[in-house]
Amino acid sequence: MSDHTFKQYHLCNEILETLSLLKYNNPTKVQELVIPAALKNQDILVKSRTGSGKTASFGIPICEMIDWEKKRPQALILVPTRELALQVSEELSNIGRFKKIKVCTVFGRMPMKAQIQALKQKTHIVVGTPGRTLDLITRGDFITDELTHVVIDEADEMFFIGLREQVESILKVMPEKRNTMLFSATLEEDVKKLANQYMKDPVEIELAEEEKEKSRTSQSAILTSEREKMELLKKVTITENPDSCIIFANTQKEVDAVADYLSRNEYPCGRLHGGMEQRDRIRIIQDFKRNKFRYLIATDVAARGIDIDNISLVINYDISRGIENYVHRIGRTGRYESTGKAITFYLDKEKEKLEAIESYTGVSIERLDLIPEPTELQKTEFMTKLKRRVQFKQEKGAKINEGITKLQINAGKKAKIRPCEIVATICGIDGITKDDIGIIQIVDTASFVEILNGKGNQVLKGIQTKTIKGKSRKVFRARREQH
Ligand code: AMP
Repeated sequence: MSDHTFKQYHLCNEILETLSLLKYNNPTKVQELVIPAALKNQDILVKSRTGSGKTASFGIPICEMIDWEKKRPQALILVPTRELALQVSEELSNIGRFKKIKVCTVFGRMPMKAQIQALKQKTHIVVGTPGRTLDLITRGDFITDELTHVVIDEADEMFFIGLREQVESILKVMPEKRNTMLFSATLEEDVKKLANQYMKDPVEIELAEEEKEKSRTSQSAILTSEREKMELLKKVTITENPDSCIIFANTQKEVDAVADYLSRNEYPCGRLHGGMEQRDRIRIIQDFKRNKFRYLIATDVAARGIDIDNISLVINYDISRGIENYVHRIGRTGRYESTGKAITFYLDKEKEKLEAIESYTGVSIERLDLIPEPTELQKTEFMTKLKRRVQFKQEKGAKINEGITKLQINAGKKAKIRPCEIVATICGIDGITKDDIGIIQIVDTASFVEILNGKGNQVLKGIQTKTIKGKSRKVFRARREQH
């Protein structure tokens, strides 16, 4: 991180204020390199891993350049997974909060109707996975003619999971006059080819901090057998006694087996794999982020991009199938200026895989072939932590959301309510101006409006005697899940 501050980029006050509430005091390396180029509307090709602050590196300039008045989307961010879509969306919503930037997230396995409705209203930024994004474009529900910024995030992963064609089909229909940024952990030939084809003279940025990054995570491996793995896991977790830990397994079946075993042993744990309902996956990640449990057992769906602070230990219960996955898995710990530990269990027949990982990363993995039994003290400390009530962590944007109250009005599209009518009514309340009104969202039978500057109660009281579109309406605080 540098000594510079974000002031050097002449960002608007609304964005500087959110950055300070997020405690982003100094730009990270990737931000120092990307933000000035992006503000000049240059195309940029960036080799960078997650954990470097890359989301904000494109999020800050895009939020800065968004023209609030325009109704149609001005920026599209393509990401490989649904989890990442939500995470990127949250980061952009936070950064753009005081500029009232509306971010719409679109991905598969969730009802299309709500996404279509959201796109029909004022939307500044769309974050989406390629499949659903392409569907919405093809159906004419996502109108792209005012897009000025396109970001392809984790391009190598998109290619790896077979989304290349969809990404290309989207790029082909993007407006000619646009700015394109591409982020990838590796810049292999196919990524470069895409860049050559769809980007204009891109500035290439490669981050040279790899070595430092790697050395923040200590890596070791333990030789074991299928039969002894569970016992070994118990031993390692007792000795390490981590505050927060991800255990990676290769299959859903294995994840379930490990999670069942740990639950039986009263570990506070949760599981995550591709066979679960999307809603459950989202909830599990949120709960883990908020510290509701300390052990997450997961397949590689959790390896990429998911940003969870302070994971002290990653255990590869199974050695990962691909080498790149190993790097992503251990990248969940030692994130952004903290240190971490990664322990990999391997079978005799997997020795070569481990060596291949070492030669790929250029970092040696210490072999710990004799694991001593945990001492009595370690067992007691482990049990004490297991029984301790956990302190829930605040969400990252909590400070930003502090002065914001979301109200629900029981009238929406069906009652032909429009944002301007809500604004007119609220501005009719004494002491309230349009600067106190944040994002407005209208669905079939309800409307949601954010009240800023700590004036939620005042508006809630005042609006009870007012009418919206000629009628008095029921207005109350929106429930948490509707936020
Ligand atoms: P990313 O690489 O986008 O996944 O970001 C990694 C983590 O760094 C996230 O938790 C961000 O909230 C955090 N972050 C991004 N930029 C900054 C900054 N300038 N200062 C402190 N934390 C940051």
